[in-house]
Amino acid sequence: MMEQYLAIKEAHADCLLFYRMGDFYELFFQDAVEAATALDITLTKRGQHDGEEIPMCGVPVHAHEAYLSRLIRKGFRVAVCEQMEDPAEAKRRGSKAVVKREVIRIVTPGTLTEDQLLDSRTNNYLAALADAAGGLGLAWLDVSTGDFQVESLQVDRLSAALGRVEPSELLLPDRLLARSEIAEALADWKARLAPLPGTRFDSENARTRLEGLYEVGTLSGFGDFDRAELSAAGALVDYLELTQKGRLPRLAPPRRPGEGGRAVMEIDAATRRNLELTRAMDGGRRGSLLATIDRTVTGAGARLLASRLSAPLTDPQALTARLDAVAFLLAEEGLRQDLRASLKACPDMERALSRLSLGRGSARDLAAVRAGLAVASELQRLLTDPAVQPCPAEVRACAERLGGLQELRSELERALVADPPGLLRDGGFVAAGYSGDLDELKGLRDESRRLIAGLQARYVEATGIASLKVKHNNVLGYFIEVSASNAGKVPTGPDSPFVHRQTLASATRFSTVELSELEQKILSAADRALALEVEIFEALCARVLQEGDQVAGAARALAEIDVTASLASLARSEDWCRPQVEDSDRFVIEGGRHPVVEAALRAEQGGPFVANDCDLSDEQRLWLVTGPNMAGKSTFLRQNALIALLAQIGSFVPARQAVIGTVDRLFSRVGAADDLARGRSTFMVEMVETAAILNQAGPRALVILDEIGRGTATFDGLSIAWACVEHLHEVNRSRALFATHYHELTRLSATLPALTCHAMRVKEWQGEVVFLHEVGPGAADRSYGIHVAKLAGLPAAAVARAEAVLEKLEQGEQAGALSRLADDLPLFSAAARQVAPAGEARGPDPLEEVLEAVNPDELTPKEALDLLYRLRALL
Ligand code: ADP
Repeated sequence: MMEQYLAIKEAHADCLLFYRMGDFYELFFQDAVEAATALDITLTKRGQHDGEEIPMCGVPVHAHEAYLSRLIRKGFRVAVCEQMEDPAEAKRRGSKAVVKREVIRIVTPGTLTEDQLLDSRTNNYLAALADAAGGLGLAWLDVSTGDFQVESLQVDRLSAALGRVEPSELLLPDRLLARSEIAEALADWKARLAPLPGTRFDSENARTRLEGLYEVGTLSGFGDFDRAELSAAGALVDYLELTQKGRLPRLAPPRRPGEGGRAVMEIDAATRRNLELTRAMDGGRRGSLLATIDRTVTGAGARLLASRLSAPLTDPQALTARLDAVAFLLAEEGLRQDLRASLKACPDMERALSRLSLGRGSARDLAAVRAGLAVASELQRLLTDPAVQPCPAEVRACAERLGGLQELRSELERALVADPPGLLRDGGFVAAGYSGDLDELKGLRDESRRLIAGLQARYVEATGIASLKVKHNNVLGYFIEVSASNAGKVPTGPDSPFVHRQTLASATRFSTVELSELEQKILSAADRALALEVEIFEALCARVLQEGDQVAGAARALAEIDVTASLASLARSEDWCRPQVEDSDRFVIEGGRHPVVEAALRAEQGGPFVANDCDLSDEQRLWLVTGPNMAGKSTFLRQNALIALLAQIGSFVPARQAVIGTVDRLFSRVGAADDLARGRSTFMVEMVETAAILNQAGPRALVILDEIGRGTATFDGLSIAWACVEHLHEVNRSRALFATHYHELTRLSATLPALTCHAMRVKEWQGEVVFLHEVGPGAADRSYGIHVAKLAGLPAAAVARAEAVLEKLEQGEQAGALSRLADDLPLFSAAARQVAPAGEARGPDPLEEVLEAVNPDELTPKEALDLLYRLRALL
């Protein structure tokens, strides 16, 4: 057996090996040591290998999923090795024969399908990254739902794409890790990387593999994929075959992200973190935007909402269609409630379907499809009710996909009992009346049981022992049992039918030929019944899978309705408004609120949330927001980003009124956030992130910069913040909100026409500072910092001293250079030189003109010296 173990282990060296032995999965050697520590279970020993004791530990098969889940979460991969024959069969081959075993599956973080190992409300993506012809391809799929997406991209977008997908496992050719810009983009995903040999990423193999998988002559029907995309997608399928040992899940054809291939709003990883879109700063779901807006009632709905939030759209037409649907369900209160009540009973059809396609399903999964189809048909009835017509197009399209599977549904209804057991091998899931043969076998089995009861009555009569019983256990099968004191009354002579089997302290057991014969009959009827049930199960699975695309389509439509109804409920309960989404660079929000902060204030029974306006339309596209700490600057900045984002997933928004010209890229940065985990100084992080914005943001982007430059010395920081504001205004020309405590920046409003100053209003009341959380025009009074310090309990002497210093500084500043800075510094000359904004002509630079006319190769030393004097004079 050890020989067999070692051979299998060698073939799966990078995994822990779960080696099936009867009712346990056993682990040996180093695997056992690692698993025992990770699972906190007892490490024992068994036998010897090369003179040393073999460490061993094990987990019971019936409870193995919980252990598996813990190991996967800790980053292990597990190969599950099963017994492929009955041990009795092995014995028949010879007393020393080893039971046949095979690895039937490799469990990795990206390939899970079990409900117990998955979070029902989040997608679990396996992703692959590949490169070809200078571009990158990223492909990702959710094995548990069959969703399969690909896109091509450049390195500078990689980090944003991964932030959107959040893969649980990322495959890539090992050589890519040697490219520093790629390694940099993957820094956040180190624990999830699975480097593979480059040969697995061959794009031609990939094409053949995909064409084979979808049984098509060419892939062009699904889209025009480039070599990098193909190679990533092919590597995924290849990996699935490897880990699922040849069985592939049902996979939808690959598609580009953003539903229907529409362009999505780009949001990089840092922005996702800062805005706490799907996870709060502490890494949990609570306190994130997603958790605050998620009112879905099904797992599939929750997953769809999360994926929409990760990839907002930019196409006003698509968004208007979604908003129409939300508005419709908002108005149709009764319909919405009926839909949601039905959806609550809807099981996870997508995941059940995927388990069935992998041959890992049970009768419960069939029952889930049955129940899901019942809900689908109920929803279709509700949505096509003449009383609620006309439905918007988006809703109608869903309603159409919900029907059409009546036959399959009624077949499942006839075939399955109401609440089937989870284990196939116990049978008992086929309903009476579905199969005549099965009913007959079961009748035979039950009949035999009745005959046994009859036998017991006869034996009682024959022996005169009233307490005689016919019993059953797994070791002896059926037997006759009498108490020890009655044992003598049972005749055991050569003519007697009773044969002694076992004597216990309190009882004696016998059998008879008649009883054994009946037992045989029962066993064979039960065996045949079970075999027939399994056959019926296989046939039903095949039927479901045959209609897999339609079932998946219905599941998807259910999820869409769930999301739409959930957004409508949210808009109703939170009093949100329908945004006007358009193809422009307008951005006008009246009475905007921060949904998460507002909810938190409500939960803590704090004061009411103060709504604020924001208008970033052309002539005032850059807002400089000043105000002391805790005045509400960050909240205001973020709420505007979140409102844009919500509008672009097709949701109503927390405002009285909103017009959003769609945003193509969203950037959000906070000064000096700690990022020790990635081992860079906080200031370096801040600058790297700021650089990304200044290099990438365009006129349709929305940029939120919160206290940039704070991470370094005052003048340093001020100068950087100053330059950033100018660059944003002159070069990027994005819509932007810039919060700062550098007062000096407000002077820029004199020279930058689209920059306007706003301040968080603060009031002094009975010697205390009161934050009004209102955004008003103008700059903040700088001395409130000292008031806050006083409030915080700084000693009175220190406060007085700070006031004196401030006064001196202000006087000095007025006399000094800083006050004239805005006037004296030629506006952003460096940028103007390199990147003159489109349409703005500039005069020729005399220095440049002279230099351009020079040919250094033809100059004599004397001429060169003269030239130098001439150039110097031009300065
Ligand atoms: P800053 O960025 O100016 O330091 P924050 O935006 O972090 O301030 O806000 C500090 C706190 O003030 C928040 O945690 C919140 O409790 C409260 N707050 C902010 N904005 C509002 C508002 N508009 N209405 C009510 N409370 C607010």
